[in-house]
This record gives sequence, C-alpha cells and structure tokens, in this order.
Amino acid sequence: MNNKRIVILGGGESGVGAAILAKDKGFDVFLSDAGTLAPNYAATLRAEGIAFEEGGHTEALILNADEVIKSPGIPPTAPLVEKLAAQGTPIISEIEFAGRYTDAKMVCITGSNGKTTTTTLTTHILRCGGIDASPAGNIGRSLAWQVAREPHAVYVVELSSFQLENMFDFKANIAVILNITPDHLDRYDYKMENYVNAKFRIVQNMTPQDVFIYWQDDPVITRQLEQLSTEATLMPFGEEKREATAAYLNAESDLVINAANEPLTMPRADLALNGLHNLYNSMAAGLSAQLLEVKNADIRRALGDFQGVEHRLEYVATINGVRWINDSKATNVNSTWYALESMPESKTTVLILGGKDKGNDYSEILPLVNRKVKAIVAMGLHNEKIMEFFKGEVPELVSTSSLADAIEACRQLASDGDTVLLSPCCASFDLFTSYVNRGDLFKAAVKALSC
Ligand code: ADP
Repeated sequence: MNNKRIVILGGGESGVGAAILAKDKGFDVFLSDAGTLAPNYAATLRAEGIAFEEGGHTEALILNADEVIKSPGIPPTAPLVEKLAAQGTPIISEIEFAGRYTDAKMVCITGSNGKTTTTTLTTHILRCGGIDASPAGNIGRSLAWQVAREPHAVYVVELSSFQLENMFDFKANIAVILNITPDHLDRYDYKMENYVNAKFRIVQNMTPQDVFIYWQDDPVITRQLEQLSTEATLMPFGEEKREATAAYLNAESDLVINAANEPLTMPRADLALNGLHNLYNSMAAGLSAQLLEVKNADIRRALGDFQGVEHRLEYVATINGVRWINDSKATNVNSTWYALESMPESKTTVLILGGKDKGNDYSEILPLVNRKVKAIVAMGLHNEKIMEFFKGEVPELVSTSSLADAIEACRQLASDGDTVLLSPCCASFDLFTSYVNRGDLFKAAVKALSC
C-alpha cells in the first residue's frame, strides 16, 4: 500500500479509468463527482472497492489529497479546484497520470477539427501494419484504464485543449496539431492566445528524437512556432511542397508522404476519405505511420480502405438518385466549410443548417454556398439568423422546426443527381440530445424513405 492519497474529480470514462489505475498502483483512492455517475461506472467502482461520492463534493475528503486528477470537463475556475490550487495541491489530468505507468509509444493528436477522424485513421493504418495500436483520450476506453488492464504497444491519443491544460511531464513521441481555429473561447477568458497555449502543451518535453507534425498553412500554428522553442523534429504537411514539407501533392496532384527514406506516392482519388480536410488528415496519419515504420504498401492499403467515422461526412443512402450525407458532427462554421468544399462543383447540394448557434459568422461559407448550394433547409428552434443571412443568396430557403419537416423539405427540393448534406454548423441541443442523437435520427429517417 502506497500512503499517498489520490483524489479524482469527475466520474466519467477518464475518472473511473484513473481510479482503477491508481488503485492498482496501491494509492489510497477517492473519487468525487458533483453530478450523478452513470450506473455502469458506479457499479465498476463498487466492484473494484473504490471509495466514491456523487451528487456533491465533501471538501474534507478532497482537500487532504496529495494529488488530484481532474476531469477535463471541470474548469480551473470551479471553486473547489481554485481552493486546491491555492493550497498547492498538484492537479493533473488522467493522461498525465497514465503516462507515468507506461513505456508505450504515444502518438498524440490535437486540433480544433479533425481529431477523431485522424486518431481513428492513424490507429487503422498502424493496425494494418501489424502494430498493436489502440485509440485513447476522447475515444473509447480511457488511457488509464488501458494502461491498467489492457496494455498496448502504441496509443493514439486524441487530446482536447481541456485535457492538455493539466499535462506537465507527459511526453509524446509523435505530436500532431491539425489546425487551430477559435473554439471554446468561453473557457479561455475569450483570449485566443490562452487556447493556443493549451494546444501547444502537446509538444512540451519533446526531444529531437520526437516529431511534431503540423499543417504548414495554419497561420496560428506557424506564428506560435516562431515564438516557441521546441527541440522536436518538425514535420509540416500541406498541399504545396516547400523545403521542409513532409507530405504534399506533387505536380501530378498525387499524394506524397515522405517521413522516412522511401517516399509513398498514391493517387489522391484512391484515398477512402474525400475532401480537402481529409487529405490533411490522411497526410498527418500517413506521416505518423511511416515514422512508426509501417510499410508503404500497408499505409496505401489502409488509406484506401478506411471505413470513415460515423457522423463525419458519412454516406447514408442514395434514394431516387439523391445522395444523403450525414455530417452531424459539423458543429462549427469551419467544419461545414470543409464539408461544402468536398461537394460537387455545381449547384446540386441541398444543405441542412441549424441548431444552437454558438455566435456563428456565416460569411465564411457564403462563397461556397453561392457556388454549390441549390437550397438551404434551416432546422431548429431559432432559424431567424439563418433565414436573414442567406435571404437572396440561394435559390430556395426553407425554415423547419423538426427533423421530419426538414427531411420532407429536402425530399421535395432534391432531384436526381443532387446531394442532401446535413452539416448544421451548430450544436444540436435545441432539438436533439447530442450530435450523435441528431445523426442517428437523421440516418434512420433517411433509411425509412427508401422503404
Ligand atoms: P474533432 O474530433 O476534432 O471534433 P472530427 O474528426 O470529429 O473532429 O470531425 C469533425 C468535423 O470537422 C467533421 O464533420 C469535418 O467536417 C470537420 N473536419 C474534419 N477534419 C478536419 C480538418 N482537418 N480541418 C477542418 N475540418 C475538419
């Protein structure tokens, strides 16, 4: 038994995983959650004999911690967290804690958009190359649980800025920043630099043997790199080949990935994932795989047969010649921009927009809408902003306040050869419980059209 007391704040996937790892390592463990635990997590903690409370925090059981592992969802301004910080108690993240107990290679991926896709794609390529790789972070089982109970040789870790905030000694072997656009600024005093600094914690502690992969055309990333000193080997990617670019399009517009001695070249059309954003995601994933010595033939095969990730530009069905696409995960303007970018160069897209607006500036997508969209169907409880903004910008503009009405409107507006794209630009919490719920109901309703 280790005498150190570890207190875990938050009893979700990461908190329960951290509690199990801490218990396995012999710590005195206590978990506290202000809300209600999901029944399976409460049952797991009981079965493991880990002390916990829910529905509130008992300060006397928390302030005596030697170290606190905080769920990324709890802001640093929560009164209890401020109290712990004021008395000097170290507050770390589950990833930081798990990293202490494994020698596995860490491929860490962050960015404002594309994290889940790139994490899943990277894992797929590594597995195709025979590597025992597993996704972690925001995907599937927590890193701590896996380290404790189901260890792997390589973890591909999706990291949000919230998780990165409480990471200090953790080191990535390969770090990826896909892009940085304003997001979650409410958590960062509305200061973009605070958000950028949190994202860049992903490169801390890296040595010249470690590699930092990033999008060379992202002005926020490149500006930050000029100010920051990192020892990591830099590996930028982008469409254009510059001196250091490690993945790019060649003169024939084929994709070249060149992190190792043998460059891989493959036609862009052979990539399983469409769209410019997915070209970038494929570049980042392919570079990571080459660095981990996956053979080019395996990378090529895996980039070509990847099944995609649910709710991200997910093909649903073709009904009466109309393609239906579910991009419910597009909850900000930037991701809808990339979805539209990947649509055909003709006015053949019927776009479903709407939901809970997070202060969207739709002017970013206006040129693409003008070029490619034949109709917008607004779907939400407050469509006024969309109706106002796009008035006169598209041939048809319809306001609906339910999924059923939106689908019916699309069915009438789309004809043979068109695409109906659900890429709402907005969070889903007005009509749905989550983007997953929105995407699932959309797919079910579309499939019902063909019955
Ligand atoms: P995240 O996990 O960062 O939220 P996802 O992989 O779930 O990202 O993708 C979310 C949405 O972001 C997708 O619907 C897609 O339209 C868009 N997207 C994916 N990759 C990128 C990228 N590299 N750049 C910009 N947008 C992207």
